[in-house]
Amino acid sequence: MSLKPACFAGSSRFLLVIAHRPITKMAAVMNPKWNGQFSCFDLVAKTSECSRSIVRVRNIEIGGNDFVVMAGPCAVESETQILQTAEAVAKAGARILRGGAYKPRSSPYAFQGLGIEGLKLLSKAREATGLAIVTEVMSEEDVDVIAEYTDIMQVGTRSMENYALLEALGRCGLPVLLKRGLTATLEELLRSAQVIAMAGNPQIILCERGIRTFETATRNTLDIAAVPVLKAVSHLPVIVDPSHAAGVRSLVPVLSRAAAVVGADGLLVAVHPCPEQALSDGNQSLTFAECRGMMTGLQPYLDLQQESRELRPQLLAVGGAD
Ligand code: PEP
Ligand code: MN
Repeated sequence: MSLKPACFAGSSRFLLVIAHRPITKMAAVMNPKWNGQFSCFDLVAKTSECSRSIVRVRNIEIGGNDFVVMAGPCAVESETQILQTAEAVAKAGARILRGGAYKPRSSPYAFQGLGIEGLKLLSKAREATGLAIVTEVMSEEDVDVIAEYTDIMQVGTRSMENYALLEALGRCGLPVLLKRGLTATLEELLRSAQVIAMAGNPQIILCERGIRTFETATRNTLDIAAVPVLKAVSHLPVIVDPSHAAGVRSLVPVLSRAAAVVGADGLLVAVHPCPEQALSDGNQSLTFAECRGMMTGLQPYLDLQQESRELRPQLLAVGGAD
């Protein structure tokens, strides 16, 4: 945005810019300190030359005009479970199937995933439905084998600062879905993105999935402001995972709508044929019917996105930290 105020009428240049804008546009004025705070991550920070990146996966564009929904179970559990889920989410309008084969679990006694068997089932589901695949990689040693099966490599919240993994993903040639660490600031998230980009891979999608706060009513606290802030300071696509943020399925549809309104490029949502019997994260997983309902309910909010785009914070061409 280029603003050329006629004269300086106060001690704060920031205030001056506001005075020259209609009141409805005030939300579009960016906090001037963000520019300096994030510009050191030059490969992922937004600049006038590089205002928006699109990550292409098969025939899908993430970060373009489409709102891309990635949906599926927390973990791949069986052939029937993943095939049924893939068909259901594809019918509901999702473009990408999620499902963990290598699971980072909070408890060492919890289901750890099917490993390579899970990867094979995911690729079977891709053949059956045409959906692209996103699955988590926990260790740099697994990068090559997982890359043979998936379309997007997911970095989980617990691995956001695993630099050996990030560097290996920088060389893997596939898009990376980078989840925000449980207690990571946005600066730290962008620092990890910069590590992947510096290692040679610019195809990065950022994911806000809730952070740990003092609040215990939800599993994590969805930092909804992270979406417009990240989109103001970085050219990377940004998606939201309302399932891991909320921890309960009843909140997932409304948080998805919130994500659409604030300008997210898509969602990562947990869906299971029978959430009560899920081996992981059943409480936050939608049934097939709930997934369809969430998708239908999103449409009017996606229509609002155009309007919200105009109100989104932008880098200021004038001003600086006062
Ligand atoms: C997941 O997507 O299943 C997952 C483990 O997410 P997170 O890393 O955000 O906890
Ligand atoms: Mn999960």
